[in-house]
Parts: sequence; C-alpha cells; structure tokens
Amino acid sequence: MALTPPVRRLKSRPVTFIFELPTEKLTEFWDGLEKGKVYASKCKKCGQITFPPAADCSGCFNSGPEWVDIQGEGEIETFTHIVIRPASFQSHPTYTVAVVKMNTGVKVLAWLTGAKLSDVKVGAKVKLAAVQSEEGPSYGFTLIE
Ligand SMILES: [Zn+2]
Repeated sequence: MALTPPVRRLKSRPVTFIFELPTEKLTEFWDGLEKGKVYASKCKKCGQITFPPAADCSGCFNSGPEWVDIQGEGEIETFTHIVIRPASFQSHPTYTVAVVKMNTGVKVLAWLTGAKLSDVKVGAKVKLAAVQSEEGPSYGFTLIE
C-alpha cells in the first residue's frame, strides 16, 4: 500500500487589480463598438490585420493603422466553458469563451452566448457582432443555426 503525502494548500489574501489602459490610439475601436462595429487594425504598410487592435504593427512596427470591420462569420477553433469564475466574474452565470477563425482570416477570442453547451463544437459556425452590455460596449459570438 503506497502512502500518499498530505496535500498542503495555501490560501492567498484577496488581491484586487485595477488597470487603467490608455485608449487614445485606439479611439476608432471603442467608438466603433458604440456604433455597432467591431474593428480590427490593419497595417497601412504591410497589411497585417490584428485583433484586438493595436496602434503599432507587430510585423513591421508601422504606426497609425486603418480600421476594418471584422463582423461576420467564422468557425470555432477551440472553446472552454468557465464554471469556476474569477472573483470579478462571480456575479455572472457560467460562460463560454471561444477562439474563432473569422472568414477574414483573423482570430478572435470572445464570449459565446445564447447557445446550449452541447451545441458548441469545434468547427461550428458562429457570428461575431458588437454588443452593448451593462459594463459597456463589447463584442461576442452567437451560434449560427
Ligand atoms: Zn505592418
């Protein structure tokens, strides 16, 4: 009979993170969400499309992107259903997050709402759209029947 060592668990003190993220170079993205658009940044020099958008291209370091609306359809590449939620999401019911390759080729990570978990599968078709939540403008996926 093998002996199992006792499991020792340490509990941390509560930790609160508050971030202030500069958004002045991404004003078009945030304004777009309020207007029902989901913009990715597209480098004016090399054409790389980035989402979430970035003011500076990671491929060629060019600044000052143009903006492309990436709403539309895509295919789930992977997903997870979050049951054990972080402290800041305790007021939310359990939720599903998916990584989707959009028809434009860009990959988007976002919540997938309005679907039965048993219907969520790798390869399923979804639609990306801007959404207005109680926390402000955002974006998310819904399954395409
Ligand atoms: Zn570039």
